[in-house]
Amino acid sequence: MAKAVGIDLGTTNSVISVVEGGKPDVVVNSEGARITPSVVAFKGADRLVGNVARRQAALNPQNTFFEIKRFIGRRWEEVSEEANRAPFKVVEGPNNGIRIETTDGLKAPEEISAMILRKMVDDASAKLGYKVTDVVITVPAYFNNTQREATEAAGRIAGLNVLRIINEPTAAALSYGLDKKGNETILVFDLGGGTFDVTVLEIGDGVFEVKSTNGDTHLGGADFDQRIVKWLAESFLEEHKFDLRKDPSALQRLIEASEKAKIDLSAANETTISLPFITFDPETRTPMHLEKRLTRAQFESLIADLLKRVRTPVEQALKDAKLDASKIDEVILVGGSTRVPAVKALVKSLLNKEPNESVNPDEAVALGAAVQAGILSGDSSIGDIVLVDVTPLTLGVEVKGGMIAPMITRNTAIPAKKTETYTTAENNQPGVEINVLQGERPMANDNKSLGRFKLEGIPPMPAGMPQIEVTFDIDANGILHVGAKEKSTGKEASIRIENTTTLSKDEIDRMITEAEQNSEADKVRKVKVEKRNTLDSLRIQAEKQITESANAPQDLKDKVQKLADEAKDAIQADDDSKIEALQTSLETALRELMQAAPQNADGADAGSDAPKTDEDVIDADFKPTN
Ligand code: AMP
Repeated sequence: MAKAVGIDLGTTNSVISVVEGGKPDVVVNSEGARITPSVVAFKGADRLVGNVARRQAALNPQNTFFEIKRFIGRRWEEVSEEANRAPFKVVEGPNNGIRIETTDGLKAPEEISAMILRKMVDDASAKLGYKVTDVVITVPAYFNNTQREATEAAGRIAGLNVLRIINEPTAAALSYGLDKKGNETILVFDLGGGTFDVTVLEIGDGVFEVKSTNGDTHLGGADFDQRIVKWLAESFLEEHKFDLRKDPSALQRLIEASEKAKIDLSAANETTISLPFITFDPETRTPMHLEKRLTRAQFESLIADLLKRVRTPVEQALKDAKLDASKIDEVILVGGSTRVPAVKALVKSLLNKEPNESVNPDEAVALGAAVQAGILSGDSSIGDIVLVDVTPLTLGVEVKGGMIAPMITRNTAIPAKKTETYTTAENNQPGVEINVLQGERPMANDNKSLGRFKLEGIPPMPAGMPQIEVTFDIDANGILHVGAKEKSTGKEASIRIENTTTLSKDEIDRMITEAEQNSEADKVRKVKVEKRNTLDSLRIQAEKQITESANAPQDLKDKVQKLADEAKDAIQADDDSKIEALQTSLETALRELMQAAPQNADGADAGSDAPKTDEDVIDADFKPTN
């Protein structure tokens, strides 16, 4: 029976996992890797996802899309910095949203994320032997409502049934605490590629209760890389009067080399960044090279202010959980960036405790997501587990004077429901507009507006008379649903949500259809490319065989040569019908030539490693290898 899986859709990498026999395990991708880079590239008619996309990034910088999670569910003005430093083009979309410019038109971050999810699930389906459709996807605990909705939409666009959106640190805690018997208070410190989360939980006897969560959705390992990029680019600019950041291909190479240097420095005290032929002198056209030594101490000073930013969320999470650091039994490190020695040292000094490194920081989140997927789909092999999570940010409405009136405060256990009654400010007011906000600041404008509710059709009444009941309902995914009713007359008022950043239902439906069509088109394209490759290998084999078959009849060799030439032309012209026809004729002619070869007088033509039978020839060299 098809099982539900857990997916950690990371900024840098993604991981998919499933529970087998009561234990979660990572499902390897089609390349045999446990981790899939969250990278998508458009290359001609092909769409590449994962490592193949990542590998060709420097050659195709404007069409290789990475760290898309930084853009999902965001407003244009929130991501201008990230948008500017990307080698690909990020533009403002409808309703203040974000679009990525691709050779296949503008794409929403949800669509690009859907392509990553699709590959993860397709690969897992092939490995597991059944079609996976039910998934649990993780998000940073500190993701707001819009980012959660957008992640869920990405799942739907990929054609998946998203059972639940769960918080990454909670998922990590699930995988850490699955076998724990006693009670523990733990702090999960999760620093990934693009986001930082800190969560305090109480665990024991299968109960996982989140006490508080905090974080920064603009902080991660990619920011560390950017500091190295900036340092390299500025010193190159000073020396050579050339800004490498203006050349997309050079910028992409700088980003890759910076990440590598950072990773090297987790194990070594110094590293050399060497980028030969990084660019050409614009005047003399002579090649320019970059070579720089970076020590761990220098790197730590480059990221010092970024590291400081983790302090406040940690302190706030402890305060919200009403605990001091000494009450934390274990500090669990999650996310690739916790491998940076300075991060570990900082955690130790903040919490006065040696961090626990027993979980795999790359896999813990996906493993926990798989456990949750198992629980939700009724997998009886998993013991009794209760998970109580919280909402990370306060939700409220805008009231008189531009203030926020909180409805559900941060760290409230979810699901949660709250109803409050509001009224009108003027006589005979026919309707009111309610601005739904998320955030901790006292003034409405400083928080994120999730949508505006228009309650229309209120009968004429003096100011202060109508009773407008507004209900906030946060589901188990942490996604908010709102309703409103005019109470004094008992009449339901009409309500309209004008969400300003997420995609509309119509847009999502269109994207689902497009994604399905593309998945069909991708399959067709794959078959086509395979046929072309098979004919090309056949042609190369044929030409080799001709030179090795000196004593074979000339007319047979001419015939094979002619077919090989035709194959070359058909491949160049991308002529599908000829490619198809030539495969059979060239295969037959080549077989004849190979059969003719061993009958030569010296017997040398066949070569000592020549295939023994036709069957061997076909299987070894001629068949597509898919
Ligand atoms: P995640 O989002 O958890 O996959 O974390 C990805 C981030 O971890 C990226 O910024 C990686 O560069 C970073 N990372 C992975 N391994 C290391 C390492 N050994 N040292 C420093 N950073 C690392």
